[in-house]
Amino acid sequence: MTSNVKALVLAAGLGTRLKPLTDRLPKCLVTIAGRPLLDYWVDTLFEAGVSEARVNTHAHAGQVRAFIQGVNDCGRLNVTECYEPTLLGSAGTVAANLHFADDATEIILVYADNLSDVNLSEMLAFHRSHDDPFTILLFRAPVPEACGIVELDGAGRVVSFEEKPRQPRGDLANGGIYIVSPDAYREMASSGAFDLGRDVLPRFVGRMRGWHYDGYHRDIGTHEALAEAEQRYRSTGRKRRPAVFLDRDGTLIEHVHYLSDPAQVRLVPGGAEAVRRIKDAGFACVVVTNQSAIGLGLITETDLESIHREMNRQLAEEGAVLDAIYHCPVTGSGGDRTLIEHPDRKPGPGMLLRAADEHHLDLGRSWMVGDMISDVRAGRNAGCRGSILVLSGPESRRHSEGGSPPFEVASDLPEAVDRILATVAAPHDTSLLMESHR
Ligand SMILES: [Mg+2]
Repeated sequence: MTSNVKALVLAAGLGTRLKPLTDRLPKCLVTIAGRPLLDYWVDTLFEAGVSEARVNTHAHAGQVRAFIQGVNDCGRLNVTECYEPTLLGSAGTVAANLHFADDATEIILVYADNLSDVNLSEMLAFHRSHDDPFTILLFRAPVPEACGIVELDGAGRVVSFEEKPRQPRGDLANGGIYIVSPDAYREMASSGAFDLGRDVLPRFVGRMRGWHYDGYHRDIGTHEALAEAEQRYRSTGRKRRPAVFLDRDGTLIEHVHYLSDPAQVRLVPGGAEAVRRIKDAGFACVVVTNQSAIGLGLITETDLESIHREMNRQLAEEGAVLDAIYHCPVTGSGGDRTLIEHPDRKPGPGMLLRAADEHHLDLGRSWMVGDMISDVRAGRNAGCRGSILVLSGPESRRHSEGGSPPFEVASDLPEAVDRILATVAAPHDTSLLMESHR
């Protein structure tokens, strides 16, 4: 039987201990190293081959909905929402989504309050290696009194479960990730209970295996935990994604000399689809554009914002979403385009380096695409894996002339994307995504 793994993501927690942050933000969208907590789960579930994730929402549901829309738009994972006007409790959420399990081979239940380095493919492999209908992720809790504590027998079967014990008999704790069979899921759903940990898990004692995970795994419930996670993820650079950096004028949109009016914005043919394909393949897509028109006083930052709003609108119309746009307002001398005149002005690598830092990108697996020598040089100066010169800009042919270029050349953006995607495995082969996480 082919597997169909689905995931129920419990993300509706109020995040009371993270106030005042959670006054304006749902807890699951609190950012760590520039990325929302839920975004890490999207990657983790995608990498485990999950076909569909359902996320429950409550507070600030509109923001979560918009996030989900973005994930679906870029095709990383199929995500659906289950809105709870009144919080149902974790067991109540399972009950409300009883039929979610109907066509699944396994269901992963995830508490999105946690930040975790876990590789769920490994946990799935363990789950499939035994006969019990339930696998629970266990971690060693620094404060067992605050957790659900289990005891295991020699076969790794859970033989006791106690929620927040006064006198813990060990420190192996419920990590808030379960893999269950559809039957076990239905049993949880029909329990009539409120809380899975307190009310339902004890009923699976003797029929549940523990999978001990000793990597990074912790609840992002407090400001202290959030600060610690922030520091760790910033310094380890975990979960870095490769990116495709795109020049704007002559590459993603038609070249207009000192473009100043949003009405002049036109995507190049196949531009939106190219962005979509980049994102579908697991790359971030970031525009990096020299905008000396600002330095020259021809347009203002506000004008530029309107232009980019229009560009994003045209992209969104075709289901394409950029991760970010960086611009450099500094004016160049107009002379040698291979000279770095300012760290941010291409061929300076500044915008790419900043994007890599702020969006956790892996430059060594990233690409730069542009229609000028300064673009491909910026890619090289930033340490990108490759740079491609596209011949769609007015000056690009001149840049490609003169001996064999030290970079690749493509006729336009869609062809450049063909080249890039030919270098990576199929989108669902996650080996490339995984290697830098190790
Ligand atoms: Mg250009």
